[in-house]
Amino acid sequence: MKTTIIAFGSNLHNPAEQIRRAIVAVSALPKIGSLKTSSLYRTTPVGYADQPDFINAVAIAQTDYTATELLTELQAIEQQFGRERSFRNAPRTLDLDIIDYNHEIYQTDTLILPHPRAHERSFVMQPLAEIAPDYTLGKHGTAAQIAAELGHDGIQLFQAASHTKAA
Ligand code: ADP
Ligand code: MG
Repeated sequence: MKTTIIAFGSNLHNPAEQIRRAIVAVSALPKIGSLKTSSLYRTTPVGYADQPDFINAVAIAQTDYTATELLTELQAIEQQFGRERSFRNAPRTLDLDIIDYNHEIYQTDTLILPHPRAHERSFVMQPLAEIAPDYTLGKHGTAAQIAAELGHDGIQLFQAASHTKAA
């Protein structure tokens, strides 16, 4: 099994419910083993500001998927949740990103690991620091260090619940 970090985001159609359902869908994937999720956070949009707030969360999971298989599975779940790809940073029902895959460095046209912008995004790093503070993200340091540098601007705790799939 490999360790992977997955980020969840939604800002349409009852985002908190989308994220809860998405966590269940990811943890139900056949080659996802144990999975631990962060609290849900309410965050202000980054990039294109004229859109609703997001709900974000992060999970750390064990998996037997390869990274590319995992991306395919996550994109299939995005599709099930009715995601339409309009423009970058647009409002979305569900965004699932692979933040890291077993500390591997990997780059193709469709997948970059670790996720190239995760370390700049407090809506990824704060939830990651909550569940895996010592996890190192590429050359950027530990989740706790990166999160502390980014700060809490634009982020508030929305629901301190978590969903865990036992190993
Ligand atoms: P974003 O998440 O940046 O808002 P999208 O979800 O529309 O944008 O993703 C755009 C593309 O990013 C996807 O089609 C996917 O191939 C690519 N991509 C590259 N690296 C990753 C990664 N680590 N996790 C998820 N998608 C990635
Ligand atoms: Mg994405």
